[in-house]
Amino acid sequence: MNRHAYLDWPFFEERHVALARELDCWAAIHLHDPHGKDVDAACRALVAQLGEAGWLRHAVGGSEYGGAADTIDTRAICLAREMLARHAGLADFAFAMQGLGSGAISLFGTREQKGRYLARVAQGAAIAAFALSEPQAGSDVAALQCAARRDGDGWVLDGEKTWISNGGIADFYVVFARTGDGGGEGGRGARGISAFIVDAGTPGFEIAERIEVIAPHPLARLRFTGCRVGAERMIGEEGQGFKVAMATLDVFRTSVAAAALGFARRALDEALAHAQARPMFGKTLADFQLTQARLAQMATDIDAAALLTYRAAWMRDQGRRVTKEAAMAKLAATESAQRVIDGAVQLFGGLGVASGQVVESLYREIRALRIYEGASEVQLLIIARELLADARPGAA
Ligand SMILES: Cc1cc2nc3c(=O)[nH]c(=O)nc-3n(C[C@H](O)[C@H](O)[C@H](O)COP(=O)(O)OP(=O)(O)OC[C@H]3O[C@@H](n4cnc5c(N)ncnc54)[C@H](O)[C@@H]3O)c2cc1C
Repeated sequence: MNRHAYLDWPFFEERHVALARELDCWAAIHLHDPHGKDVDAACRALVAQLGEAGWLRHAVGGSEYGGAADTIDTRAICLAREMLARHAGLADFAFAMQGLGSGAISLFGTREQKGRYLARVAQGAAIAAFALSEPQAGSDVAALQCAARRDGDGWVLDGEKTWISNGGIADFYVVFARTGDGGGEGGRGARGISAFIVDAGTPGFEIAERIEVIAPHPLARLRFTGCRVGAERMIGEEGQGFKVAMATLDVFRTSVAAAALGFARRALDEALAHAQARPMFGKTLADFQLTQARLAQMATDIDAAALLTYRAAWMRDQGRRVTKEAAMAKLAATESAQRVIDGAVQLFGGLGVASGQVVESLYREIRALRIYEGASEVQLLIIARELLADARPGAA
């Protein structure tokens, strides 16, 4: 089977094809899943390893700051995530968080901010995190309450963030906080939010709680108590934080779809091999039409998800607005990957739920992708909002 056949789709340029092939090969040799029990150490080691091998250059934008290209290359990020996810979930996580955590700086940072952070992120010398969600503001992110008030020539942050990936091991956090009235009831709303860079170890910043999840990776609740940062730590303009967050998510939401695709492709590889090897009723599992129908559905789901994912990535790289297309890609790819992986677990029978089996770990890995960076229901609402706006009388 030619596992790279889809790379000749018109979405990709030569550099993308080369990246995907080389990373797939490298990952097969260097990445080993499952990792040990100490997930923090494993994640730190993966960031260093991916940085040293040069792959993290694709997670940041700006060649003068260590990036592989002048701007964020969405297709490169997506292909990298797909390849890494196919081999090791934690490696995909490590790559993705370097990109998501520094994405606001790549897209909106000053020269000074880019110089200070991006090269270290690209080398794997600094670990990044993106802190948007709060205990009372997950899907309803515009309800965020973490506050930043002006204090002389700086800002003072007070409040909490939760579900923050890399929380506890990150060297810096991009934190979204309320600096003004949001325009809605009780001051909430998308206006009046600003983005700040907070270094680990800044007085008044602490890890309030570590959170354990079904597919272990570093995750924490953060607390800010009179945490002072200089004015030069603001990313973009005051009050533009929501725009900064959404533009970052437009890139990384599509890359969540790509990671789901990598997990699903691995599940299909495992299912094909197992179905052909497993003797049953004097034949093999693959000889039965029920099995063939399942495999056919899995492959079709995967190609449909890949088309939506790389359409969104390609469109963004053309400089087009992709809010709807990124939401469609994330919705379709994560939901169908869950079905594909569940189908693979079923084909494995009892082995499918045995700890240590690849399909068992994929089953745990995929679940959170349907929730974070906007749950599937939120993606549906985004798609519907865009559709209705387009269909409004007088809309271009
Ligand atoms: C493993 C993991 C890693 C994460 N990493 C990060 C990170 O690095 N940085 C960060 O800022 N956040 C992160 N998050 C947070 C994530 O983005 C939120 O969990 C997500 O946005 C959902 O918010 P919530 O958990 O508060 O759920 P809620 O907002 O309480 O939503 C619960 C459920 O309600 C449903 N729902 C939502 N809206 C609607 C609606 N309008 N109508 C009907 N149903 C609806 C959805 O099914 C949703 O799952 C992470 C989460 C997880 C699980």
